[in-house]
Amino acid sequence: MSESAVRIGLVLPDVLGTYSDSGNATVLCRRLHWREIPATITEFHYGEPVPAGLDLYLLGGGEDESQTLAAAHLREHRGLQSAAARGAVVFGVCAGLQLLGTGFGTTDGVRHEGLGLLDAETSPGDRRAVGEVVVQADQGLGAEPLTGFENHLGVTTLGRGSRPLGRVLAGTGNGDGTDGAVTGRVLATYLHGPVLARNPALADLLLGWVLGAPLPALPLAEVSALREERLRAGGHRG
Ligand code: GLN
Repeated sequence: MSESAVRIGLVLPDVLGTYSDSGNATVLCRRLHWREIPATITEFHYGEPVPAGLDLYLLGGGEDESQTLAAAHLREHRGLQSAAARGAVVFGVCAGLQLLGTGFGTTDGVRHEGLGLLDAETSPGDRRAVGEVVVQADQGLGAEPLTGFENHLGVTTLGRGSRPLGRVLAGTGNGDGTDGAVTGRVLATYLHGPVLARNPALADLLLGWVLGAPLPALPLAEVSALREERLRAGGHRG
């Protein structure tokens, strides 16, 4: 890897940042710094142009209204799509997942166009999914169970162009027993937490994609204790 810093972009944290999802940027930055790899976080807000030259972009959750605003903004200013096309890593959570897909419906019956970076279509479900989630990541996406918190109405169906992040062991996720969507280096999930604080292996998977090589684990006892406690809260018996 070059000596230049890894450039992390926090996408519209003013409209996409429920449940401290912006903390995912802090986690990635710290995990790079602990390995003495320089990293920067650039925030860009609603109404500002979207820089296309970053290495990794993060999108968090949001209410339907702010999610709709974010989708419209990102369809108009197409820096994220250009970045993804040249191989930048994109990570979305909940509303972030839904708007990275082909489209999403809101409770007023309107369908909003997504960015089309994932082959995932979302429509409102019958009941809101709220609570702890445990997901077993699919082959090549992590060995340890993922822990997170979900709060969404949307039900997401994947097309052939995306595969799920994993299988739901507890909770709802996409609504069909899977969670999340992955196409190339674009990965998204319903899990808040911040999910990368709870699941360092997922953080390192994304960083490995950026750096072009898997990263050695950083043993952190507090994170293990948090994970065990949250996995138990999700009903998972390791
Ligand atoms: N507005 C979306 C839904 O309810 C996403 C919610 C969220 O990001 N937590 O499905």
